[in-house]
Amino acid sequence: MNIHEYQAKEILQSFGVPLAKGIVADTASGAVDAAKKLQAETKTSAWVVKAQIHAGGRGKGGGVKLAKTLDEVKEKAGQIIGMQLVTPQTGPKGKKVHKVLICEDVYYKGETDPKEYYMSVLLNRQTGRNIIMYSTEGGMDIEAVAEKTPHLIFKEEIDPAVGMQPFQARKVAFNLGLSGNAFKEMTKFVTALYKAYTETDSTLFEINPVLKTSDNRILAVDAKVNLDDNALFRHPSYPALRDLSEEDPTEVEAGEHELNYVKLDGNVGCMVNGAGLAMATMDIIKLAGGEPANFLDVGGTANAQRVEAAFRIILKDPNVKAILVNIFGGIVRCDRVAQGVVDAYKNIGSIPVPIIVRLQGTNAEEAKKIIDQSGLKVYSAILLKEAAEAVTRTIAAN
Ligand code: GDP
Ligand code: MN
Repeated sequence: MNIHEYQAKEILQSFGVPLAKGIVADTASGAVDAAKKLQAETKTSAWVVKAQIHAGGRGKGGGVKLAKTLDEVKEKAGQIIGMQLVTPQTGPKGKKVHKVLICEDVYYKGETDPKEYYMSVLLNRQTGRNIIMYSTEGGMDIEAVAEKTPHLIFKEEIDPAVGMQPFQARKVAFNLGLSGNAFKEMTKFVTALYKAYTETDSTLFEINPVLKTSDNRILAVDAKVNLDDNALFRHPSYPALRDLSEEDPTEVEAGEHELNYVKLDGNVGCMVNGAGLAMATMDIIKLAGGEPANFLDVGGTANAQRVEAAFRIILKDPNVKAILVNIFGGIVRCDRVAQGVVDAYKNIGSIPVPIIVRLQGTNAEEAKKIIDQSGLKVYSAILLKEAAEAVTRTIAAN
């Protein structure tokens, strides 16, 4: 689960990670109040107005603006709230901004040489260990650094049995070229950051940039946090951090029906039971020359209601030209699913696109009979290859 920068910073603060302080607002006048409050707390004389959306690269898209007076705070917050912000990570449609974070300007007092670092903590799935990834080249596009100058990215692996050790924090500070007080501050920073990552059961903490100020403080200026969905039950306060307006509405609706749905760009809708089979189905659609319109796992118990909800969700996508239903009857019986497909078809009324159903496993033959005898515009197949080819053929013919 993704959360906003302001929420991520509240978490960081609760773990003692030093950061650029901020207050969130959803109107221009609220932004001015936030700026005044920050000034009283931090003595800052300038602010940054930051769009809160679930995407990075906001600076490049005009979603991060410096304000030197309270009037400028009002003006810039007014411009940013409500805008459709397009960044390299949002796609061409962009994302609507509902909130701004007003932060103290930490690049302060005529900062001569602010130094920006990159730091993230994430799981290395190959080794099954958490790693701290860090670089002297912060602030900018870390993907570009990884591509052009990979030797400037360091990785520190943490042994899960003993956790992060003090020598590892010192190694990070050393590799970043720090000394004196900044060195000490960096070891504290990375230690607190790692603790925050593990104790919140996160899958990603990314701080870009981490700033070294001219008075040798180390601060998180930005924060991207991804909480592990599978661990949310251990943190009763986290589900409230979810912002549904940041998510695809069809995916939210699918979630309500316990369907695992991800929209894609092709024109073949797929309904499959099991995530592995769903991925294999997408592969075979591509192999037959098609492009999947979605990933959809109806789960282990593909009953008639689920199948119907799944059809409705797939059909919301206007690009869908055909639907491939691929069910393996292991626990579920294929004839039950076939009846579910036929019932769903009748309930929905008219489904405007051809449906190709491939049912394999327990009672597959009976299932094929039910489909073939239903008199509906549903084609059945038992072999997956046949089914995928039938899809491409029907799309070409229509
Ligand atoms: P992102 O573009 O979505 O990654 O948003 P960031 O929070 O990383 O901000 C983008 C850039 O804005 C940073 O790399 C900084 O250069 C700049 N920035 C952020 N906070 C401040 C600040 O307090 N003062 C100044 N002058 N610049 C800032
Ligand atoms: Mn950033």
